[in-house]
Amino acid sequence: MNIEEARSAVIRGEISPVELAGAVFERIGAVEEKIGSYVSVRKEHALSQAKQAEDSIRSGDTPALPGIPIAVKDNICTKGIKTTCSSRILENFIPPYESTVTQRLGEQGYVLAGKTNLDEFAMGSSTENSFFGRTKNPWDLQRVPGGSSGGSAAAVAADECIAAIGSDTGGSIRQPAAFCGVVGLKPTYGRVSRYGLVAFASSLDQIGPVTKTVRDSAILMNVISGHDPLDSTSAAVDTPDFTSALGRDINGMKIGIPKEYFIEGLDGEVAGAVKEAIKQLETLGAVAVEISLPHTEYAVAAYYILATSEASSNLARYDGVKYGLRVEGDDLIDMYMKTRDEGFGPEVKRRIILGTYALSSGYYDAYYRKAQQVRTLISRDFRKAFETVDLVVTPTTPTPAFRAGEKTADPLQMYLSDIFTISVNLAGVPAISIPCGFTSANLPVGLQIIGRHFDEESVFRAAYAYEQATGWHRMRPRLQE
Ligand code: GLN
Repeated sequence: MNIEEARSAVIRGEISPVELAGAVFERIGAVEEKIGSYVSVRKEHALSQAKQAEDSIRSGDTPALPGIPIAVKDNICTKGIKTTCSSRILENFIPPYESTVTQRLGEQGYVLAGKTNLDEFAMGSSTENSFFGRTKNPWDLQRVPGGSSGGSAAAVAADECIAAIGSDTGGSIRQPAAFCGVVGLKPTYGRVSRYGLVAFASSLDQIGPVTKTVRDSAILMNVISGHDPLDSTSAAVDTPDFTSALGRDINGMKIGIPKEYFIEGLDGEVAGAVKEAIKQLETLGAVAVEISLPHTEYAVAAYYILATSEASSNLARYDGVKYGLRVEGDDLIDMYMKTRDEGFGPEVKRRIILGTYALSSGYYDAYYRKAQQVRTLISRDFRKAFETVDLVVTPTTPTPAFRAGEKTADPLQMYLSDIFTISVNLAGVPAISIPCGFTSANLPVGLQIIGRHFDEESVFRAAYAYEQATGWHRMRPRLQE
């Protein structure tokens, strides 16, 4: 079931929230051992939320998410419930407060299905960098689900929840959505509050939905969007009803196809599926034009300087004093060193070192400042493109899901797999990944649709028109039970 179906079944009284939660836990019991989507599942807490939802429905309330089981990435704070970031340093961290996003989900009656696995501190593209072990792709257990929100995408694809929440700094919602054949949206920077999202790279981080359909994505955006005084980067803009963009035709919409995204290294089957999808959009009335985003080739380099710099600063707070793990030492410095040495995994350490280097005096101008300048050029590329087109359409990833272990020995190869998603975060614009076909090995392919700042509505409008015309989203992985 998706949110839309579950909601109407609950409201019509065909299924109760407690039964719905029970069904999700049964499914988790049957497949979780193979997939590993979750870091933690709190059945009793979920059942008490489901009972509460039942009571409020009985008293006449019809919230947006009446008892709907939704999984939340484990870098989003849930009061009283462990939030680990899949890191040893936060293995036993219990947040004393609730994130704004889960607060809003709660106000609409959701049930927390569980906290999902991620690359440690959201640093990675495969969910292999987790202290709690890797998550597997439900379409092929030998392959990665993508990352860093791999647990959220796998849980949705394997029906271990009705929908999920992820975070996206350089592609972490869209790339796993593409690899797992589900819908993932990175909203405009500032659209969704980051209060309670454990910071990785604050100028890029954004929370968004991972769902089975485009409509569900719009439904969740209606709940989680909006200005929040607790997040100084949250924008004071009105939240439209995102679902009203659905079902409007796309006749005459102009879609830009950036030539820099159809390059060597792009998998032939992925390119084929994306080109078919563009044709389909044209059949629906969109006008496709070739455009150029000339600074695309510098995006990965700029991102991995800026993201690591911000990470090195943000992660300074894990010092064995304020949060999480503490390993005693001979003196204060020794305690810091032992705590951070034992608490962080190798990828997190690599990023802290890279970022600290890029920010250090003598290198700041050559690396950090230069990367900021490149970021401005990339933003301008998009601004210029959006003077002539309404949307930009690209593949979400250069390849389908790769094999576990394939890229772990070569960080640069791993970083390059984010090549099509990163520019969107640098520019701060919204983008969705929706299923657009399968390779001959039966692996899902994702189509990325990018919009103007705060124009998620056009993104949803085109994504929905495409989804309804094709039906790829109805394909489910065959998991032997
Ligand atoms: N894969 C990218 C990285 O490793 C993006 C991660 C993310 O969006 N959180 O930084």
